Amino acid sequence: MTSPKDLHHYIGGKTVAGRSGRFGDIFNPTSGERAARVALASAEEMRAAVADCARAFPGWAATSPQNRARVMFKFKALVEANMDPLALMIANEHGKTVPDAKGSIMRGLEVVEFACGIPHLLKGEFSDTVASGIDLYSMRQPLGVVAGITPFNFPAMVPMWMFAVAIACGNAFLLKPSEKDPSCPLRLGELMVEAGAPPGILNVVNGDKAAVDAILADPAVQAVSFVGSTPIAKYVYAAGAAAGKRVQAMGGAKNHMIVMPDADMEQAVDALIGAGYGSAGERCMAVSVAVPVGEKTADRLVEMLAPRVRALKIGPSTAADSEMGPLVTAEHLAKVKGYVDLGVKEGASLAVDGRGLKLQGYEKGFFMGGCLFDRVRPEMRIYQEEIFGPVLSVVRARDFEEAARLPTEHPFGNGVAIFTRDGDAAREFAQKVQVGMVGVNVPIPVPLAFHTFGGWKSSAFGDTNQHGPEGVRFYTKIKTVTARWPTGIRKGAEFVIPTLR
Ligand code: NAD
Repeated sequence: MTSPKDLHHYIGGKTVAGRSGRFGDIFNPTSGERAARVALASAEEMRAAVADCARAFPGWAATSPQNRARVMFKFKALVEANMDPLALMIANEHGKTVPDAKGSIMRGLEVVEFACGIPHLLKGEFSDTVASGIDLYSMRQPLGVVAGITPFNFPAMVPMWMFAVAIACGNAFLLKPSEKDPSCPLRLGELMVEAGAPPGILNVVNGDKAAVDAILADPAVQAVSFVGSTPIAKYVYAAGAAAGKRVQAMGGAKNHMIVMPDADMEQAVDALIGAGYGSAGERCMAVSVAVPVGEKTADRLVEMLAPRVRALKIGPSTAADSEMGPLVTAEHLAKVKGYVDLGVKEGASLAVDGRGLKLQGYEKGFFMGGCLFDRVRPEMRIYQEEIFGPVLSVVRARDFEEAARLPTEHPFGNGVAIFTRDGDAAREFAQKVQVGMVGVNVPIPVPLAFHTFGGWKSSAFGDTNQHGPEGVRFYTKIKTVTARWPTGIRKGAEFVIPTLR
């Protein structure tokens, strides 16, 4: 048997071989075969990578924002020129289809486009003559070395949410991507240096908990941005904050879509199929709960959804006609199937059972068919917990009030949608629901790059969201200068706190 390819780290503008002797396995989810191994960094290797970022930081911070923006423009062009190979890397390690992988890279590039406007975004404020001869102004300065820890499901987009803004602001960025699909992040590190960023401004270091703990313990790391599951988000937030770092930590989700009796049912069903089963449900903004209002709406919805779920075209992530590829790993597949078993035990009605799907020629691949549960109750674990697979639960609500209460009372609060023609109902819902991102007749309401992304409750910890103006605030600190010149200074010491006179 040939030994699989080994992936290492990208530090200081070059590939650096891992020295810990520990490796993680990377699988091709379509074939189910081990495709590569990835080096898992030790705490010492992590500290060395942070030190390399720290060496690169002062020069980059002193580079004018316009020249930093020029690097971002070049980086965007390079990613576009490399779109096909990057998308293939994602498809082969994550399992999402190639067009979906390209879409996710594009959504990341939109944040790079936003970061190209950094000279404007970093403009401070100036107040002239706040007192006799005194001017007051503010400036935003980079933090230093900042780190990003990212999940498996968006190996290009989520890192770009973070590092595009952080680097444009003048920071040096240490990326610790998911160990399940590190090829694309490693390549993005190379492209950033090719675009003109000094080596050390984007270091990509692979690893697991040991690497994350080393980031959290390193006093040179000023801020940590995390995206992943809720238990780890909570841990990173608590440990990072205890160590005095600025932390934003995005967690898991259970996104509801309310279907009002007046909704266009064809549109609602299309939306649920795309948002529930696209990327095999492995999206933090996937819709995993449909809430039809009234028995008639519910019966019609389930009747229309079931044949569409059965007809999903499931196949290799690289096949042109696949609508849904495999799940990321055998463990994750087993976990998702376990939730379907649990739902049956809990008494939900399994309208479509995709557990038994086998694809000819890909028998070892991590595939399952779409599953549809009806009559799911709020007390069931399949409703309370994130499944992160192609499993949609229908929770029937008697009326609008009951439907609207469900996402508000759910522990997660990432995204939510309402499908209706009733403007009053939609407006009231958007105003009152306790969820961070709301769609009105839009199933996956991911805000564009110049707005910000972030959930509420157990879906996010920390005060600032990803990208947009909040991203600029997260990766900079504000300094305020009060200045007067000698001609404006009266002689003699002042012992009373200065006030405006
Ligand atoms: P995960 O929490 O398992 O891993 C995320 C990162 O944390 C990885 O880099 C991983 O190496 C690291 N990690 C894992 N276990 C750790 C531990 N014990 N200690 C320290 N670090 C650890 O998440 P995942 O499975 O890669 O991604 C899927 C999850 O991410 C889902 O819950 C999904 O909802 C969530 N997600 C959220 C958003 C959002 O913006 N809210 C976006 C994408 C994904």
